[in-house]
Amino acid sequence: MSADLHLQSVSKRYPRALQDAVHQVSLTVPPGEILGVVGASGSGKTTLLRMIAGLETPSQGEISIGGQLAATPTRVVPPEKRGVGLVFQEGALFPHMNVVRNVSYGLHRHLKHQRLGIAEQMLALVGLSHKRHNYPHELSGGERQRIALARALAPDPKVILLDEPFSNLDPSLRTYLRDQLLEIVRRVGTTALVVTHDVMDALVIADRLAVFREGRLVQCASSEQIYHHPADAYCARLFGPASPAPRAWRGQSWLGDRTWIRPQELELHTQSQEGALRVRVNAVRFEGEHLGFLVRPITDTEGEEQLLVHLPLHQRERHPLNAERWLVFRRAAPEEG
Ligand code: ADP
Ligand code: MG
Repeated sequence: MSADLHLQSVSKRYPRALQDAVHQVSLTVPPGEILGVVGASGSGKTTLLRMIAGLETPSQGEISIGGQLAATPTRVVPPEKRGVGLVFQEGALFPHMNVVRNVSYGLHRHLKHQRLGIAEQMLALVGLSHKRHNYPHELSGGERQRIALARALAPDPKVILLDEPFSNLDPSLRTYLRDQLLEIVRRVGTTALVVTHDVMDALVIADRLAVFREGRLVQCASSEQIYHHPADAYCARLFGPASPAPRAWRGQSWLGDRTWIRPQELELHTQSQEGALRVRVNAVRFEGEHLGFLVRPITDTEGEEQLLVHLPLHQRERHPLNAERWLVFRRAAPEEG
């Protein structure tokens, strides 16, 4: 089963806190979508998931799942009645229960023989049928997370929430487990929110990204959209360095509505050409695969910011420090949306 999730102006302020942990977040996740939730530590990602799961009550706003009201500040549907599955950073399996009992734990409403059947089905789904009689301490970290996913999926939730499910695994296993978990979620077709502090994870697994900063939803869009049209500097820099577009270029037809520019979209020339901007070379740094040139527009207006330009290693001598050059924009990738 899969359903849409809708948040309307949801805020959460913890007791004694001076500001909201989550502030006026509105968000719609269509059925079957995998939404990546990214943002620095403390930006409210876990609080958001806990409100959706029913482990915290919103201070303001409404949450509905599959068109049914799940939470308002005064009316709260209990977690087990929401049809929401949860997987945390630490799988949090019950240590005294074997794998089958862990996986069938949430199936109170089923008859005993049905419970066993569903648990076996889920174990097959995550490829761990052969571990059915083992206890959590007999499993690897990756296996524990797969069991946690099986347990969360067993009651056939409408929405599944994964809070940094890969972050405690060693790097070699991480990518493998990440791809495996998400392949399973996609196959089951459940609507999913996946919190990760690694933007590369989010890029690979998610249909859209929701970017949080200080409790606010700053942007919710496809990764391409965020890459090319970031809502602010924070969103722009999620995917690597970016410089604000110089004032003289804003609104030019060849720049479109772009306000941020990637270093690989810029070139330095010794001769002027259409759209070129006069700049001075302020610094050059070796960045491994290329050189990073920091240049500043030479204009009468105050406060023009430096731009970072990536050029091939052999161009160091061509643009010495303090040289005046012409900066040219070359779009690196086709425009999205
Ligand atoms: P994230 O998951 O993005 O790291 P959290 O949702 O855990 O962020 O935290 C958001 C903010 O709420 C932080 O400032 C954090 O200190 C605060 N916070 C989180 N949980 C609680 C709690 N149970 N009581 C009080 N403050 C909390
Ligand atoms: Mg968190």
